Amino acid sequence: MSTSQHPINRIGAYWKRIFGEKVYRVSIDGGFTCPNRDGSKGRGGCIYCDEVGYRPKYVEPELPVAEQVKKGIDYMKGKIGINKFIAYFQSYTNTYAPVEKLRKLYYEALSHPDVVGISISTRPDCVGEDVLDLIEEIAEKYHTWLEIGVESISDEHLKWMKRGHTIRDTEDAIKRIKQRKNIFVLGHLIFGLPDENIIETAKKVSEWGLDGVKMHHLYVVKNTVLAQEYKNGNIKVFETPDAYAKIAVKFLEHLSSDILIHRLAGYVNKEFLVAPLWTAQRNAAENIIERILKEKGSYQGKLRSTFEHIF
Ligand code: SF4
Repeated sequence: MSTSQHPINRIGAYWKRIFGEKVYRVSIDGGFTCPNRDGSKGRGGCIYCDEVGYRPKYVEPELPVAEQVKKGIDYMKGKIGINKFIAYFQSYTNTYAPVEKLRKLYYEALSHPDVVGISISTRPDCVGEDVLDLIEEIAEKYHTWLEIGVESISDEHLKWMKRGHTIRDTEDAIKRIKQRKNIFVLGHLIFGLPDENIIETAKKVSEWGLDGVKMHHLYVVKNTVLAQEYKNGNIKVFETPDAYAKIAVKFLEHLSSDILIHRLAGYVNKEFLVAPLWTAQRNAAENIIERILKEKGSYQGKLRSTFEHIF
């Protein structure tokens, strides 16, 4: 059984245990770009990328980071009555800048008295040792997550998505992060890619010793290469949340129960969304995943054989 005595080892329950109350992320746009957009790795970005569509509506990127944090916290306190927050650098590649600039932005976000930690989202090829020195320094004082865009364990998929990095880059980044103290490492994954092996993926990310994962189904947002591919009939998506939930359950059953689940499915505001339309309904798939696990008497890690971390 998962450590939380719930079929899924959810991050919300973990944060409640260590902080004594509910903790939410507050999203920030630090004004970064991405090497897969500015030409150093590629132009145009990953085929599914429209970072504007992923950003919560309350985020105002033109404001200084400290003000974004304050506004985001005031908004969420008023809406849901939460008192503790993780500052979440979400948009684009949040380690892609000189380290002194990163230091200024990260500490600015952490200066709000209700912020108890930080989560930094980035690509596997943007975690140099100088960046890790800084994040390790922060992790000594604050609860710290480094979120890596793994997306797939297949180089063919990474190439198809025009990610501009290989699975070797991903493994190298995770290995180096795991050698640092106190940094929690999380992998973003996309499910629904052509010919994917979901059990292999669960096995691989468990062996890497990731501390967390964010699961996303493949979805299509406007103004992307993927939107054109979808229109041309070249890709399929999970037409229903039930279809995705079956795959997600299989993944969870083969995943180490130690790994904290930060997200079970993607969500996009309907104004940006092309397909599948259920992506704009919060918790559409989450509820089905939990129901299937309960009905089967199953849970995260149930079908996992013993293994050792490789890093
Ligand atoms: S790495 Fe992230 S920000 Fe950069 S193009 Fe891909 S999805 Fe967009």
